[in-house]
Amino acid sequence: GSNKKEIVYEGVELEVNKMKVKFPTQLFINGEFVNADSGKTLTIVNPSDESEICKVQCASAADVDRAVLAAKKAFEEGEWSKISARERGQLLFKLADLMEQHKEELATIESIDSGAVYTLALKTHIGMSIETWRYFAGWCDKIQGSTIPVNHARPNRNLTLTKREPIGVCALITPWNYPLMMLSWKMAACLAAGNTVVMKPAAVCPLTALKFAELAARAGIPAGVVNILPGSGPGAGQALADHPAIRKLGFTGSTPIGQTIMKSCAASNMKKVSLELGGKSPLIIFEDCDLDKAVRNGMGSVFFNKGENCIAAGRLFVEERIHDEFLRRVVEETKKISIGDPLHRGTSHGPQNHKAHMDKLIEYCECGVKEGAKLVYGGKRVDRKGYFFMPTIFTDVTDDMYIAKEESFGPIMIISKFSSKNLDDVVRRANNTEYGLASGVFTRDISRALQLSERIDAGTVFINTYNKTDVAAPFGGFKQSGFGKDLGQEALNEYLKTKCVTIEY
Ligand code: NAD
Repeated sequence: GSNKKEIVYEGVELEVNKMKVKFPTQLFINGEFVNADSGKTLTIVNPSDESEICKVQCASAADVDRAVLAAKKAFEEGEWSKISARERGQLLFKLADLMEQHKEELATIESIDSGAVYTLALKTHIGMSIETWRYFAGWCDKIQGSTIPVNHARPNRNLTLTKREPIGVCALITPWNYPLMMLSWKMAACLAAGNTVVMKPAAVCPLTALKFAELAARAGIPAGVVNILPGSGPGAGQALADHPAIRKLGFTGSTPIGQTIMKSCAASNMKKVSLELGGKSPLIIFEDCDLDKAVRNGMGSVFFNKGENCIAAGRLFVEERIHDEFLRRVVEETKKISIGDPLHRGTSHGPQNHKAHMDKLIEYCECGVKEGAKLVYGGKRVDRKGYFFMPTIFTDVTDDMYIAKEESFGPIMIISKFSSKNLDDVVRRANNTEYGLASGVFTRDISRALQLSERIDAGTVFINTYNKTDVAAPFGGFKQSGFGKDLGQEALNEYLKTKCVTIEY
């Protein structure tokens, strides 16, 4: 079969930390690695030392066209359209096994490309990606409709049933914070449902997506089913949103770009769209919490993956009576965070993803200081090569400040006080945002925690924990954090359409 075919590509071979890594630097279209039509390239930089890793082919609208054509052919008449759902599942399991065999290599590539700490990349960026593929592989042969009673008169001569069908060619556009994981969350559900796909990773971090393309080819995913096109947002990204043969677009990224994309999807051909956008998630910490746990999780809620985490807690509300103690302990622990080379096993905090992002964080902190918030710790670059930014803590933040309203997407903790005498007030403050991605509550009072879980307007509520996402649990936001879920059974719905069949007998 196709999996016996030799896979050839132009790529890069490196030795990193005594490990050999090898990945393609070309576009993946119709089962082959090819150059971009325009000959343009992207320059990929290692954020921990600012060195150039390689150049990667940069897709434009012409390449998008080629890839969509291949995906359409694969969907309509290729091997993919003929194999059974169970065989499709077996192919996805095989792909997951291959990813598992290459997980150290993938984690190393992710680390040098995105600045993720290697140990975290292995567990989360790559580990959760593999789990996601297995979870959705298992769904392939369990997608089903229902029979619905429609005519209650007797004798009933109607049989009405629903069928769940793939949508067709889907486009996926992802950000740079968890490159392979964002690809996997969307693509695994998309392929499990039986679609074909054209995917565009973020321009700054496309390397694990290209390694993934190689593994997909090795696993025997038929040509045209998976197409991977590194390219810019306004170039290849916009071309995907505009393309009339694409029937569904799944996007993760910022709220402003989500708005642009939704407009383009509507104008081009009314393609179905799901959007996972930004957040400014509230974390409410009550006096009666387990303080050790609240300190640990409070730090994780902000500093995990150097703050480049869409569900990062962007606003901490700490009850006034424990505020000073909480702050003292958080500062003490933050000073111990080991910043450095993300490949070193002892490091817990790597560089920010790219230079423009680090520059934005510097400005963000300057703005906080100007507004009168108190900068307790950090707020600046680390004095070394690479885009390292210090874990940062602000207190005395008021709700009208820019830093209380806008997402930083960096390791910046924003603390303000509240009094639990007025629960309505803290709920109002927590919900006083156009975002609604995630939230958290720390309290030993389970009744209060459950009340808050009802009243907080966000897609995820963590109680006495944070960042605990699981492949089986639906993930996605409300309000301007977007709509549509990744993960869990609900994610399949984003990539399926329901057909209703009525038979009179
Ligand atoms: P971004 O919106 O700038 O870019 C996201 C992707 O969209 C990239 O691949 C980019 O190339 C592409 N793009 C840009 N302009 C486009 C256009 N006109 N048409 C089509 N595609 C276009 O976001 P980013 O800076 O890469 O990522 C950070 C943002 O992503 C943050 O706001 C963060 O909260 C959000 N995010 C959300 C989630 C979630 O699940 N809700 C997860 C991760 C990141």
